[in-house]
Formats: sequence, C-alpha cells, structure tokens
Amino acid sequence: MIAIMKQGTTTEQRDNLCQWFKTMGLDVHISQGEYTTIIGLIGDTSKVDINLLESLSIIDSVKRITEPFKNANRKFHAQPTIIEAAGQKIGGGHFQIIAGPCSVENEEQILSVARGVKEAGATLFRGGAFKPRTSPYDFQGLHGEGMRLLSLAKKETGLGIVTEIMNINDLPLFEDVDIIQVGARNMQNFDLLKELGRTDKVILIKRGLASTLKELLMSAEYVMSGGNEKVVLCERGIRTFETYTRNTLDVSAVPMLHELSHLPVIVDPSHGTGIARMVPSMALAAAASGADGLMIEVHNDPEHALSDGAQSLTPAQFADLTKRIEKIREAIS
Ligand code: PEP
Ligand code: MN
Repeated sequence: MIAIMKQGTTTEQRDNLCQWFKTMGLDVHISQGEYTTIIGLIGDTSKVDINLLESLSIIDSVKRITEPFKNANRKFHAQPTIIEAAGQKIGGGHFQIIAGPCSVENEEQILSVARGVKEAGATLFRGGAFKPRTSPYDFQGLHGEGMRLLSLAKKETGLGIVTEIMNINDLPLFEDVDIIQVGARNMQNFDLLKELGRTDKVILIKRGLASTLKELLMSAEYVMSGGNEKVVLCERGIRTFETYTRNTLDVSAVPMLHELSHLPVIVDPSHGTGIARMVPSMALAAAASGADGLMIEVHNDPEHALSDGAQSLTPAQFADLTKRIEKIREAIS
C-alpha cells in the first residue's frame, strides 16, 4: 500500500504518521520527491482502514498495491484449485453440471427430476429446502422434510447434493449435503460465512445481487480465513437498469475471477436470466467463457413449480442442452 502526502506536509507530520504505521506492525519506506512524499507500507496492510487514512488532512491519496483477499488470491496460489464433492472434481479443467429444481416440493417431484437430470448428464443434484423468497407469503421451502427428500434422491441416483443454507442453526441438517450453497442474498452474511469456515464442507458462494467481484472474493475470504479452503464461486447475474431479463448475467466475471483467484468459478444462467428460453444460450456462453461448471434449474412441470418455474427447463430441454454444452467444451479444449 502506498500513501501519497499532500504538498506542504512538514517532516514532523510525516514522522508522526510513520510512527503510527509502525505501531500497526508495518515497515515504512519513504520516497521524498521535490514536491511529493510517498510512503510505502510494507507488511500486512489488511487491517489498515483506507477511508480513515484518506480522511487525514495531510494525505492526498492512498492506493492498495495488493488486493485485500489473500487466501483466494491467484498471486499466492498460481495453480487452479480443484475441489472434490461427492467424487466429482470442479476446477482446473474439471467441469460439473449441477441441476435440479429451485425448490424441493414433494417426493414424486424430487425423484423424477433427480432421475431425469442424471440421465441427461448432470453430475450433481440441486434443490432448495430453505428458500430465501422476496415475499413472506411465497413458498418458503420444506425445511427438514426437504432435506430428507434430498437425501432420498441422493440414495436413489447417487448424485451428490447441493442445497442452500440460510441460518447456521440449521447446519446439523446438512450432514448428508455435499455442497452447501450460500445464496446471493446471504453473500455478505458474515457470521454465516465465518461459521461455514469452521466446517469441512464444500461451500458454493453465489454473487450478491449488487456485489462487485472484489466483494464476492472477500466473502470467499471469510470462509477460507476460518480454515475451510473448499470454496466454489458462482456468477448468477447482477441487478442492472435492464428490466427485460430478471438479472444481467455477467459472463465476463468468469475470466476476471479466474485471473484474480485460483478458486473454481461456475455460472447459473437460470437466475442470471430468469427466462427458460434464454437459459441454453447463456449456459453455452458460460461454458465457452471457461467456467468450471454450471448450475441449471430443471423442473418436471415448470408451469406448476412452487418457485422459479419461468426459468426452469424441462428434463428433455436440459438433456438437449447438455449435449450442446459437451460440444462447446470440446471446441474450447
Ligand atoms: C437458488 O439457487 O434457488 C437461489 C435462490 O439463488 P440466488 O441466491 O442466486 O438467488
Ligand atoms: Mn431459484
């Protein structure tokens, strides 16, 4: 980190500032020009409050040279991380397709979708039992019963389970879960992230509705700094001024996150568009962008789905899509 001082700052003011940096355990390197003084800070600057520093009357500007995320940073971990869940590898050239309904609704639905997506080439099964709905009057999920049905689907198909956690008190119900999803709305639920950092489960973090990539990486950092390095990032669309689609899918997040981080990056074109007919083209675009996987909502009866039916593919549409994804994967390999 470097701090550029305002013109006219006295030597005493500069020395006082340097002394303050030293009390934070940092070394300083002073570069004294004719008009400007630049102080280079050496050491762990993650605890330095940039806003506080910039507010000082003797400071012109402050710049971070290294990013505040350390564990997730590609600079300190050049090789892509490969994460394994239920025997499936994600990242470093390994590509997985997570598919299933938005919500777990009943036994017949969950088993029929699980069988359908498995046959079509999905390698992990998704379904929400705890649903973060905008309206409290909408279906909130089956909770414990939903978790039981997910386990049943896993037993029947052998597919590992991906499902969302909203409250850390529910963690005991997630024993049989292979990937715990932190949804977009909870991306910055820091207490939840810290607790998940103490588990040894794979954690899938979805990008918040209005979050920058740096904020997403800092959320990953919360989990990783707690000791759990098994984090998968998920781009699921962000809120923009566009209203024709539910969200704007930021495909450029994939190469940028790969540049910044060694963690696997997957894409969710279902929430990214909100419109089933748009899902295939965005899934193909995501695969072409180098994503390490996809998360796609599939329902046996989208018209009667209890949540997100408008963006859900039928098993047949999904089967058609997986073949095309395979072709894109071959084309870019
Ligand atoms: C979901 O996966 O069903 C979900 C609620 O996703 P998001 O958090 O991305 O909205
Ligand atoms: Mn959904």
